Amino acid sequence: MTITGGCACGKVRYTIEGEPVVTRVCWCRACQFTGGGNTPVNAVFKTEDVKIEGALADFVSEADSGNQVHRRFCPTCGTPVTVQSEARPQYLGVRAGTMDDPSAVKPDMTIWISAAPPWAIFDDTIPCYEHGLPPPGKK
Ligand SMILES: [Zn+2]
Ligand SMILES: [Zn+2]
Repeated sequence: MTITGGCACGKVRYTIEGEPVVTRVCWCRACQFTGGGNTPVNAVFKTEDVKIEGALADFVSEADSGNQVHRRFCPTCGTPVTVQSEARPQYLGVRAGTMDDPSAVKPDMTIWISAAPPWAIFDDTIPCYEHGLPPPGKK
């Protein structure tokens, strides 16, 4: 499968050759900031499968797991594009909303529902987890 996408202004573009290892709706507090209220869908690929053109800015913060997490975004339009944990550099999460066809991936699970606001709506056709995070590869 080939997936293309990029940020809203077009300065950052990517091509992915491969299937997502796992695709997750994530309600952790950090993801809520990038989602603007609702929350992002993160499709996790092998890092080597993703080729990115254009410069991304990088915001690094410590996750509840204690790992350093890199959230990269377009410095021009602010679109959040990728998320990656230093503990698992072999995997790269791509925000599904940045794909040219956002229906190219489909969530396998919802995580961190304990951090979601009471009005959040969860897809009850896929597993929901109170916290994170089965490591990628284990669905
Ligand atoms: Zn942009
Ligand atoms: Zn998250």
